[in-house]
Amino acid sequence: MAASNRHRIASGVAIFAVILVSLFLFQLLHHRSAFDDLDRHRGGWPAAIAIVLGSAIIHELLHVIVWRRPLRLTWSGMGFGAQMNPSMSITAHRVSLALPLLLLALAPIVAALLINNGLLLLWGLFFLLECFSDITLLFALR
Ligand SMILES: [Zn+2]
Repeated sequence: MAASNRHRIASGVAIFAVILVSLFLFQLLHHRSAFDDLDRHRGGWPAAIAIVLGSAIIHELLHVIVWRRPLRLTWSGMGFGAQMNPSMSITAHRVSLALPLLLLALAPIVAALLINNGLLLLWGLFFLLECFSDITLLFALR
């Protein structure tokens, strides 16, 4: 399962489109920018770093939940990532790749739009960026 540059470009375009559309929808629904809520963020850089680290760990755990095998983290050029199980079915791979995207990115983005929370939207969009390689692989698995 090799991802080509075409898959990477498709992933980047999809992420960029979701970012633009959700920021536009937030503005349209709530008559202000999601970035206006940045002042409401508590805890400064330590809290932001804790959220980034926590989300990365939860992201990888969501992948391995589907695999039902012990977590094996490996270092790659992009940072650490959970290792795939080559004996797994394509469907299980797809579910494993899609779980962090659905639960950590798309769910907070939709919730943020509904409950008028710009900070949640910005974090959801950041978590979406963390899904770049997963979305690339999902395109490659089509
Ligand atoms: Zn991932």
